Amino acid sequence: MEIRPPAIAPPGIRRPGTRPPEIRPPDSVLAILGRLWSAGHAGYVVGGSLRDVLMGREPHDWDMATDARPDRLLELFPGAVYENRFGTVAIREGGELHEVTTFRTDHEYADFRRPHRIEFGDRIELDLARRDFTINALAWGADATRHRGEPAAPGLVDPYGGTDDVEARIIRAVGDPRARFEEDALRMVRAVRLAATLGVEIETGTLGAIEARAKLVAHLSGERLAAELDKLLGADRPSIGLRLMASTGILAVLSPELAAQRGLPQNKIPGDDLWAHTVRTVDAVAIDRPVVRLAALLHDIGKPATMADGHFLHHDAVGAELAAKLLDRLRSPRPVAERVVHLVRHHMFTYDPTWGDAGVRRFIRRIGRDALESLFALREADNVGSGQAPGGNELDELRRRVREQLEGDVVLERSDLAIDGNDLIAELGLAEGPTLGRVLGELLERAIADPSINDRPTLLLLAQAMLTEDR
Ligand code: ATP
Ligand code: MG
Repeated sequence: MEIRPPAIAPPGIRRPGTRPPEIRPPDSVLAILGRLWSAGHAGYVVGGSLRDVLMGREPHDWDMATDARPDRLLELFPGAVYENRFGTVAIREGGELHEVTTFRTDHEYADFRRPHRIEFGDRIELDLARRDFTINALAWGADATRHRGEPAAPGLVDPYGGTDDVEARIIRAVGDPRARFEEDALRMVRAVRLAATLGVEIETGTLGAIEARAKLVAHLSGERLAAELDKLLGADRPSIGLRLMASTGILAVLSPELAAQRGLPQNKIPGDDLWAHTVRTVDAVAIDRPVVRLAALLHDIGKPATMADGHFLHHDAVGAELAAKLLDRLRSPRPVAERVVHLVRHHMFTYDPTWGDAGVRRFIRRIGRDALESLFALREADNVGSGQAPGGNELDELRRRVREQLEGDVVLERSDLAIDGNDLIAELGLAEGPTLGRVLGELLERAIADPSINDRPTLLLLAQAMLTEDR
């Protein structure tokens, strides 16, 4: 039987011999470029969107570049606003915001970070030279300053062989990789991130330079690192990028504790070490659960420190502390950090089928309603990361029983009680303070155990009794 190639290539993979996809920016982008050209300027689509189109992926934004200076852009596009001090202007067109950046070269890189001074330029080639990788150093458009009034025919500008590298599916630094990584160490993190999000390889010379310069990642701000880590964790298979982080030495700089997982025994999948378990676990979390993916990355971060006794004792509690420190360094938004740390703290939860319904309710209270689904998702991924089925009879049973409780009219937290602190103050003459908190806490315990007591008179009577016992 004849085997035919699939009619539609999977995203990002072009069948050999097929023509590259036509570059056809949306009308709103063409409108902006058209206005730049007719005003006698250069106007190009640049960067990630072009790369994405050529790889057969859907671009998420269409950044543009021009020789027009920012103040000129504000003249040409009423309503446009400055976006940052690097000459980026945001233009609203067709109901969408687009970023247009003036051609520039970067100077005086300080401390292996972003440039301190930039200089505007007049030619697209200069602007492409400052970009990180060949596949990101492509432009499509036209330069009306070179055409003296003739209609400009838009085309591709590719001084560094970016289209060939798209075709070969490799990430290659523009220019000397070591020098480029010394200018801005974030590029190394971007390389491993792009390898994961695009599902491509890093070219050997570029990879060698990352290994040689990985230590410079220590100079980067937490925010910039976190932005790339977020994107990495949003890849179909984050493990591609995570493994590269580990093998290049970036991971050891980002988190020595995670790097220490390499080579640690993990008795579930033969041949796997703990780090292999971690990356498998991350991959096993659904792509639309970024918080759980981050928690999966960090869930066993406490193991290297606690294996001295051979049992990883309290690795969940130790891990929660280490996770909190790392997320603090990455300047993670507090709500995200809190949720991740909470998941790490509780990822070892156990369930005993002999629990009564009150036991299930205590479990819900301990984890918190909002965290339950995430915690179950983490456990399922942890199981997959250990070479097991995601669920199992006991986990499924716990989920069912939790659902039953949540659907019932039960007491799980203080706000579910039929009275609150104000009632105790008004009815029993209590004052704000530790006693009030203790009484409410005790009432909650009792109502979790027996929801039938959750009415106002009964709770007030019980509270009265507690206070009398105190005397
Ligand atoms: P994504 O698809 O995730 O947006 P991207 O490559 O477009 O990926 P951006 O952060 O949007 O990433 O950057 C836009 C473009 O700016 C890149 O394609 C690249 O040309 C250039 N660029 C971004 N960061 C750097 C850097 N640190 N050094 C050099 N060029 C960079
Ligand atoms: Mg982009």
